[in-house]
Amino acid sequence: MPEPPYLIDPKTIERFDARCTAFARAGRGRPTDGRTRARGADHQIAAPTVGLGDDEPALAEARASRRVDHLLRSSLSEAGDARPSVEDREARSPYEFASPEDASANIKAVARRFGACLVGITRVNALWVYSHDAGGAPVSLPEGLEFAVVMAVEMDRGQIRQSPGPPASAETGRGYSAMAALTVSLSEYLALLGYRSLPSGNDTALSIPLAIDAGLGAMGRNGLLLTSDFGPCVRLCKVFTDLPLKPDVSAADHVEEYCAACGQCAAACPAKAISDAPQPSFDTVGPYNRRGVRRWAVDAERCLAFWEENGTSCSTCVAACPYGLD
Ligand code: SF4
Ligand code: SF4
Repeated sequence: MPEPPYLIDPKTIERFDARCTAFARAGRGRPTDGRTRARGADHQIAAPTVGLGDDEPALAEARASRRVDHLLRSSLSEAGDARPSVEDREARSPYEFASPEDASANIKAVARRFGACLVGITRVNALWVYSHDAGGAPVSLPEGLEFAVVMAVEMDRGQIRQSPGPPASAETGRGYSAMAALTVSLSEYLALLGYRSLPSGNDTALSIPLAIDAGLGAMGRNGLLLTSDFGPCVRLCKVFTDLPLKPDVSAADHVEEYCAACGQCAAACPAKAISDAPQPSFDTVGPYNRRGVRRWAVDAERCLAFWEENGTSCSTCVAACPYGLD
């Protein structure tokens, strides 16, 4: 079994507290896609009280693209949506696949039809589950959800290359909405087969280490997952489940060597938030960097300050990355 393409320090690593993320520390639950302005309650589309300025269609698209994500996530309970309930499940026998391999092949094919461009499976390493959510509530996975189906949704490079600006924000928002539709649909599929599951976007557990464990890629200098086929131009999501599956293995990779020789994201970052150090290390910049993981630490608060100043999200470190293009 190959070693995963990351190094951890077992003496210092512990579960990450989502209150430490730059978004949570800034009092923001999620990034703003499109310029901030008065908005209605989460479940209705409010007429704007002020215009959006010269870029009105582009800014409206950036906000509209995230709408499905907001609606679907607000329909799930805070503790997640591990369904069907234990009672429901006891009332019926789950569909029996011929083997975990057979189940995995089926789930991957369905996930791709539901919109995933990459799918991998891993046993859940409890280290990657948040200790607390951004509101301070302890996080624990419902018992028995031992497997994660980790999925990537492709983003359009042409749109992302227009970062920082509304077209890139719109593509990010579309990615979030696609993640929400994909995870909720796959979770429903598992429920209909009689298995419990929990759809998850950025909540509950860190997606990047789960994606690495599931063989989707490795982490780059820009702090994002670099995949062979799409580079960092993807969004990640996962569904936890108790359906017995066959885990994939971490992909052997050369991302560290590639990033050490490249550095294009650090040069392009308008906030100077990405390290230009020659090699990764266990050093951290702030509490938003998880301790005990060897990597290039990103200054997430500098990054977020740029978003605030610029008025839209930024994907310049995705746009600048050549990984996966050849
Ligand atoms: S999102 Fe923009 S500001 Fe943040 S690290 Fe990437 S390039 Fe820098
Ligand atoms: S731009 Fe270069 S250094 Fe940065 S993540 Fe991509 S490959 Fe690595």
